[in-house]
Amino acid sequence: MGREDGAIQFNIAYHPTPYPHAMRRDLEEIAEVCDGIYLVFAESDLEYGSNKVKHCIDLAHEQNLIVLADFWGYGNLFACGAIPSLFTVQHPEYNCVTNRGRTIPKSCPNKQGVRDFMRGAVEGFMATYGADGVFWDEPSYGLAGYLGRYEDGEWACRCDDCQAKFRDRYGKEMPAGLTAEVEEFRNETMLGFLSDLCAYTKGCGEHLVTSTCIMTSDSEAFREAVAQTPQLDVFGIDPYWRPDQDVSQKDFIERYTGDSVAMGKRHGKLVEAWVCAWKQNAGHEADAYRAAKLNAQHDIDCLSAWSYRDYISWDPCDRANAADPERVWKNLKRAYSEIRDDDLEIRE
Ligand SMILES: [Zn+2]
Repeated sequence: MGREDGAIQFNIAYHPTPYPHAMRRDLEEIAEVCDGIYLVFAESDLEYGSNKVKHCIDLAHEQNLIVLADFWGYGNLFACGAIPSLFTVQHPEYNCVTNRGRTIPKSCPNKQGVRDFMRGAVEGFMATYGADGVFWDEPSYGLAGYLGRYEDGEWACRCDDCQAKFRDRYGKEMPAGLTAEVEEFRNETMLGFLSDLCAYTKGCGEHLVTSTCIMTSDSEAFREAVAQTPQLDVFGIDPYWRPDQDVSQKDFIERYTGDSVAMGKRHGKLVEAWVCAWKQNAGHEADAYRAAKLNAQHDIDCLSAWSYRDYISWDPCDRANAADPERVWKNLKRAYSEIRDDDLEIRE
């Protein structure tokens, strides 16, 4: 990852279609402006219809595209478009328990069974499908809306394993409140988890790229911790600006991409910025164009967009006031082409 000539590497997230002719056309078009794809799949994609994943990797490689495997929503520990983890459903004994004693549909990263599952997922994927690397998207303790909600003051995880590890680390019982120590412990847990995921990946081949993306809503301490993850190659941030935010797009990207470049470079990582090209609103089809240019004005190594043709699962097709996905994609393509020519000026 990262171009040897120091130029920005361009990528886009791609949800593989089950129709091979359409997929070929998509990937040929992507290869016109991109160097790589983030291949998005959920656990259920490999259980049912895994040929499309294999076919996608083969076709992408035909186009000389780098392929990073995005283990979407595995264990409900990463970002996902409302496709729940099968493992989490099948193994409630490994699920997180909140400080109110409630079990939630999220696998606990401190449980050995969950680490074993993730290790098997990475090793199995590499042995069966192959790819050029692995992507961990927005690892967090957050609970996506389709999985339920935390009550006010409720947090995870305070299961028996987490409590035991906390006791070992701090020499006292784990508080029921979200204290500074608990926050630190949760950050360390997620960092240890991410570190293991990178180790499992590198265990399949030292050449494999390891990449993650964290959110602007993550604390600065968490972002700084993730930037130090051993064996992590690419440290990413997704400053997904929306027009209803109080801050301008420029200021928002300036702050978070700027911070991430500083953090990532400090710890010797390649830095990636993500462009918001999903769930755009009508009339805002050029937001992704501006976001790409604004991000490229920072010292980033990779510029990626979520996702091809403004697509996130089925959402834009049935939402009122949705953007025209063709225009979003055309604008993004234009930005990528111009940036490749060292043209960073925003021209609408
Ligand atoms: Zn736990």
